[in-house]
Amino acid sequence: MKRSKSEQAFKQAQKFMPGGVSSPVRAFGSVGGTPVFMRSASGSWVTDLDGNRYLDMLGSWGPLLLGHAHPEVVTSLQAVAADGTSFGTPIANETRLAKIIVDALPAVDMVRLVNSGTEATMSALRLARAATRRSKILKFAGNYHGHVDSLLVSAGSGVATLALPDSPGVTRGTSSDTLVAPYNSLEAARRAFEDHAGELAAVIVEPVAANMGVVPPVAGFLEGLRKLCDDAGSLLIFDEVVTGFRVGYSGAQGKFGIDPDLTTLGKVIGGGLPVGAYGGRRDLMEMMAPAGGVYQAGTLAGNPMSVIAGIATLTGISKFGGDLYAQLEERGAGLQAGLLRLGEASAVPLTVQRAGSMLTAFFTEGPVTNLEDAQRSDTNRFGHFFHAMLEQGVYWPPSQFEAAFISAAHTADDLDLVLSAAGQALERIT
Ligand code: PLP
Repeated sequence: MKRSKSEQAFKQAQKFMPGGVSSPVRAFGSVGGTPVFMRSASGSWVTDLDGNRYLDMLGSWGPLLLGHAHPEVVTSLQAVAADGTSFGTPIANETRLAKIIVDALPAVDMVRLVNSGTEATMSALRLARAATRRSKILKFAGNYHGHVDSLLVSAGSGVATLALPDSPGVTRGTSSDTLVAPYNSLEAARRAFEDHAGELAAVIVEPVAANMGVVPPVAGFLEGLRKLCDDAGSLLIFDEVVTGFRVGYSGAQGKFGIDPDLTTLGKVIGGGLPVGAYGGRRDLMEMMAPAGGVYQAGTLAGNPMSVIAGIATLTGISKFGGDLYAQLEERGAGLQAGLLRLGEASAVPLTVQRAGSMLTAFFTEGPVTNLEDAQRSDTNRFGHFFHAMLEQGVYWPPSQFEAAFISAAHTADDLDLVLSAAGQALERIT
């Protein structure tokens, strides 16, 4: 497949932007090769600068639940753009979007719109600290909550440890209030609560982890965190930036029947435009300025474009002919089963984990329950798999530790095409 225009564009981009990209994982760092520059997209397909078409399993990293350039999203954006893209005043559509979110998510009484998932988690932590008058936060290894300084940390495995910064520029001081435990280890979380009794403002968790590949919570994990927080007077924050409106209309909180105190959102609620949100219990949310004293603001927060794209997407879910989540579940299960069959038929150890329409094929024996398990994956093999898929016209996420996303636009035939490409790819890499 010829990609000379992408290669040329990448050379040019590297002159003006660090690494040639606006977000690191786009640069193909972990799979090698030159990133593909996309030009346009429609439904489940993307087209690159050279005119090559790919069946898209990246889905812009999660927002595009309805697929690319969904007609209702496009027409509502066009209509709104013509009337002005930002006023710096309240607009009625913000309230419409907020109401849709509040009606859908059981644990969200009020919501604040921001511009990204990173802003959402950063603000939720500030609120949690203000509400509890405590400093420390517990997070889980392999959970990503955006590039908030205090959350950019990793830790040793096995037990909860004080976190060390993951990136230059994050000071030890900033990360010293962050504790890290292995995902799915209630025991390690309990120890953190014991070792830091009365100090934990909140636990922040991806209720289904999606940033070390898809790792669902083991039975009792989320329930156990809820109880630990209740017993200690700490807040439970579900980071639903990925899972919100993705694993079900009521998010992971609805799926698992657990009410967090605070919820962070992003991705799907902006339908492909920049967005984030945090919400939760009314008494907590009313602590935010100007209702309360905890400060957080944004020039373009709740802007007309992001808000209308979110409304069009979320209302599009109910307008979908039939139960969209049932269709996504069925397609996801079919893809998972097909990949597993291909893995068994080849000599490549493959573990396929899924929650609804998000899925990861780990190149390792399973199950994968935490970061340590995920890191056993053969990333070299994954890189070969990725490129073999790309050559056959399937755009798989360019990292072993990410989720592939199925949208409403993916047909059964599309997924057959993915499986046939994956069969060839696996043959080539054994
Ligand atoms: N939280 C989770 C679970 C995410 O996956 C991400 C991004 O991928 C974020 C937060 C940060 O969102 P954003 O990239 O919009 O800042």
